[in-house]
Amino acid sequence: MRAFFVAGTDTDAGKTTVTAALLRAFAKAGVPALAVKPVQTGCMETKDGLEAPDVACWKRAGGEGRALFTFRVPCSPHLAAQLDGARLDVATLAEACRKAVAEEGVTLFEGAGGLYVPLNEKENMLDLMRELRFPVLLVVANRLGCLNHALLSLDALEQAGLSAAGMVLCRPVPPSHVDAGTSPEAEELILGDNARRLAEEGARRGVPLLADIPYEENFSASDGNCWDAMAARLGNAVSVLAAPQKEDERTKERLAFDREHLWHPYTSALKPLPVREAAGALGARLFLADGTSLVDGMSSWWCRVHGYGNQRLVRALQRQAARLSHVMFGGLTHEPAVELCRRLLTLLPSGLEHVFLADSGSVAVEVSMKMALQYWQSAGRGEKCRFVALRGAYHGDTLGAMSLCDPVTGMHSLFSGVLAKQIFVERPTCRFDEPYRKESFVPMEETLRAHAGEVAAVVVEPVVQGAGGMWFYHPEYLRNLRTLCDELGVLLIADEIATGFGRTGKMFACDFAGVTPDIMCVGKALTGGMMTLSAVAATRNVASVISGADAAHGGGVFMHGPTFMGNPLACAVACASLDELCASPWQEKVEHIRQKLEAGLASCRAVPGVTDVRVLGAIGVVEMDKGVDVEAWQDFFVYRGVWIRPFGRTVYVMPPFVVSDEELETLSQAMLAAVRSAAKHGGTPQRG
Ligand SMILES: *Cc1c(COP(=O)(O)O)cnc(C)c1O
Repeated sequence: MRAFFVAGTDTDAGKTTVTAALLRAFAKAGVPALAVKPVQTGCMETKDGLEAPDVACWKRAGGEGRALFTFRVPCSPHLAAQLDGARLDVATLAEACRKAVAEEGVTLFEGAGGLYVPLNEKENMLDLMRELRFPVLLVVANRLGCLNHALLSLDALEQAGLSAAGMVLCRPVPPSHVDAGTSPEAEELILGDNARRLAEEGARRGVPLLADIPYEENFSASDGNCWDAMAARLGNAVSVLAAPQKEDERTKERLAFDREHLWHPYTSALKPLPVREAAGALGARLFLADGTSLVDGMSSWWCRVHGYGNQRLVRALQRQAARLSHVMFGGLTHEPAVELCRRLLTLLPSGLEHVFLADSGSVAVEVSMKMALQYWQSAGRGEKCRFVALRGAYHGDTLGAMSLCDPVTGMHSLFSGVLAKQIFVERPTCRFDEPYRKESFVPMEETLRAHAGEVAAVVVEPVVQGAGGMWFYHPEYLRNLRTLCDELGVLLIADEIATGFGRTGKMFACDFAGVTPDIMCVGKALTGGMMTLSAVAATRNVASVISGADAAHGGGVFMHGPTFMGNPLACAVACASLDELCASPWQEKVEHIRQKLEAGLASCRAVPGVTDVRVLGAIGVVEMDKGVDVEAWQDFFVYRGVWIRPFGRTVYVMPPFVVSDEELETLSQAMLAAVRSAAKHGGTPQRG
């Protein structure tokens, strides 16, 4: 079973003729083949309904096929649909196309017009092709402008992430009509040169020119001999398109290599847990190499808020890559960095005014710690060099950040000789959705009062403790903390790397409490999860104390400067991601996801083994009484069509904001099925 999309460089490029001839060629080669026209315009009314002209043409060549959506007027699909009182959309079309793929042999989906032909007011043919992800056979009209059209189309396919299986050149214009006044010899020269150049360009891009079909065969096409002649020229195309897929073997080989040489997160190099190959992703869905489609409940570790393949982000990256992909940030600046900072300042809690760009979340945490240390150095209080952190926290995997992570789950014992000894306070016991209890702040208050003289900063994940256990606590705790830090002269660092940019229902979790930390770290969703980038924002006070220091206290410069600081690609994507977020009704979407998760996960509460179910913003958590077998749970989830990777006792989802209701339902149902199955089978879900 293989499917291809037959696209043209233009309207009247010869797609239908080529498709018809291909059907005949496949038949001659003994390969079952079927053609499908997703949208057919210009249909004739007959007593049996609308007759699709392209299907009629395929039939003349002895081929089989059908049209899915048919309209009367011969014009662009969006307009033809409108004139017949209908509206096309990619989701419906794609669904119909997928159902039309033949079980056996080759299915050819023939487009309408060129790649950018509109299907409705915002979607076009290329969007349908991206959704279907079939390799593309590009039919190129050999006439003046041929190379230009063909190369632009190849660029567009590449930018859409589609692979081109090959090109077929055909001549839709009768000889001597290439251009008034060209002699037949000159014309032969021009068209022949087109073919040569196209073959060369194609070879450079790995897209073979599979056939060059002359005019005569192309259009005196009603008799069988003529189709046979044309089919004979398509031998190459048939062998390429019908060639057995080697992808399974290639994937197997890569996975074997991966197992031997690639170290995955938190795994053994010698006995790694199995991994799967991701081959693509679109919206809230991941596609594995074996064709499995999964609803992504993880947002790739919480960062892909806009899902995958978002065109605004893709284009921002491509545009910036072509202009200035990287340049050192020492002594130079650039538009993407400035624009990103401008956007951040409008979103961040007021008072944060100076932005330091860093490479990743962990590095941002390191930078924030160094800022706090240098702040006290600069102020002549170098003895204030320890940090207070919460139990159950996660702040990253580098040494400094790790010293702030929960001392038990953060495995401090492994690195006890090396990690800085920080001061830990029990995690806030006041839950997010319960009335605030002042007593819950007592442990923090006692600790801070006892240690204020040696503490540079308190570091917290505001409201949501993420990778340390998905714990949601009351925003009032943060307000108390802000007040106490001010009273005692301790800086407050908010690690918003997981919570930032809407995940909790607020732009930042600090917004629940209306507090401005002295230093804030953001990362993960900053770029919509497309690139690694983080930022550390500081108040004017922090920046001016550090910058005002004399030579003995740091010299007034902040001592950090990574090679890829302010990487223009990452900054450009971050700008696009923030624009996308701000242009969307994200508060409503997150609230909608919250309600759906609340409803969808509620039944988990009653299942034995489940100790808690909690939802905040677009985060849904089911907590188990025992640590789970990650591999077994993940297997179960993949079998159920979702990508959910639990940790410890926590089974959770954090879907992209673009997730549909149906996809949310799939996620919730899979969670419920997993805990039910686990309850039946001693804590580990079993398929079937
Ligand atoms: C993920 C995370 C980090 C670390 O970010 P990386 O980009 O993985 O280094 C730090 N703090 C919090 C709260 C996080 O969730």
